[in-house]
Amino acid sequence: MKNIVILGGGYGGIKVLTGLLGLSLPKDVLITVVDKNPYHSYKTEFHTIVAGTAADVDVRTKFPKHDQVEYEFGTVRSINYETQEIYFEGKSNIVSYDYLVIALGCEDAYHGIEGAEKYTESVQSFSKARHAALAVGNLKAYGKLSIVGAGLSGIEVASEVRESRPDLNIRLLDRGGSVLRAFDPKIQAHVADWFIRNDVEVLHHANVEYVEKDGVCNNGICYVNDVTVWTAGVQPHRIVRELPFKKDKYNKIVVNKFFQVPTHKNIYVIGDNASSEHSPSGQLAGQQGEQVAVILENTLKGRQPKTPKEIRLRGTLGSLGRSDGFGSMFSQSLTGLLPRLTKSGVLWLQKRHN
Ligand SMILES: Cc1cc2nc3c(=O)[nH]c(=O)nc-3n(C[C@H](O)[C@H](O)[C@H](O)COP(=O)(O)OP(=O)(O)OC[C@H]3O[C@@H](n4cnc5c(N)ncnc54)[C@H](O)[C@@H]3O)c2cc1C
Repeated sequence: MKNIVILGGGYGGIKVLTGLLGLSLPKDVLITVVDKNPYHSYKTEFHTIVAGTAADVDVRTKFPKHDQVEYEFGTVRSINYETQEIYFEGKSNIVSYDYLVIALGCEDAYHGIEGAEKYTESVQSFSKARHAALAVGNLKAYGKLSIVGAGLSGIEVASEVRESRPDLNIRLLDRGGSVLRAFDPKIQAHVADWFIRNDVEVLHHANVEYVEKDGVCNNGICYVNDVTVWTAGVQPHRIVRELPFKKDKYNKIVVNKFFQVPTHKNIYVIGDNASSEHSPSGQLAGQQGEQVAVILENTLKGRQPKTPKEIRLRGTLGSLGRSDGFGSMFSQSLTGLLPRLTKSGVLWLQKRHN
């Protein structure tokens, strides 16, 4: 038997799995999916968990069952690429691989800011989002919430919590001069206006110096605060950072056109951990996952895989609560209900497909 091990069943990993199952898999192949959670989770919706506007079951789906697929539910501790083995936290079993796909997603980056890791809530994993939900949900009337970072996830957290808890004092700390710097000015203006209309204070040119249990200190001013959510940057997964493979300036593993580690061609890296010309996203991870499934199928059958097609991203969609949103689709900037409905439609399709 040849064992393909997929580390992480998130946006990228699930597409490798469903892609392989949709192709004619040789009978002597076993796929082992490793994830700390016994379900596939939709990280792009974790802000709804934080805000309490979605239940757990709304943002996860079951992994598929198949007689050539096994699941190992546990937290990966490390990879030994010499013995081709995976080790786990708190349990002694070892998973061996012939082919490995690393799709473990990313973690928060705290940029060395004192107190940030200790005193802030996170949206980067399901359990952390649930933890954040408890902190936000338990806030007393008119409690103070700060969100550090006004990129896509910070915007979605701030707006979703605002709709869920109109009483809270919400402050969004934005490093730039306008929110969503990577987006079109029309979208920036729409989002800025939404925050004004919905009473979310946005502080531009933020430079957080340190975080305390009950406050955030920014540009020499300390704001008293009950809960702080960190959305101010991500980095590759710790396990990936520790691997001695060639990395780019973001610490992501440099891969060849087949998503292989050039020195270890039986190891594939996709999603938030793979160096790419594109910004990290669920869509990017998913397309890479689909391509790796085809590459692996060819490799298993002894055929030289074709060079994968160029990745074509269809744009980005973001939500501002339940009935407003924004996005760039097919080079068009859209704001309002249409992109919001489209985002819900995309999620519905993803769930159905997975
Ligand atoms: C609030 C928020 C909103 C977002 N909105 C959007 C959006 O609108 N559009 C978009 O394209 N992107 C969005 N993103 C980014 C997107 O979610 C990621 O880019 C995407 O999920 C990356 O896919 P991935 O497969 O690399 O990792 P993930 O989807 O994160 O999957 C990683 C998997 O690995 C598992 N895992 C992690 N560590 C371990 C371990 N040690 N052991 C075992 N299993 C482990 C996890 O449980 C998870 O299943 C958003 C992110 C956040 C946080």
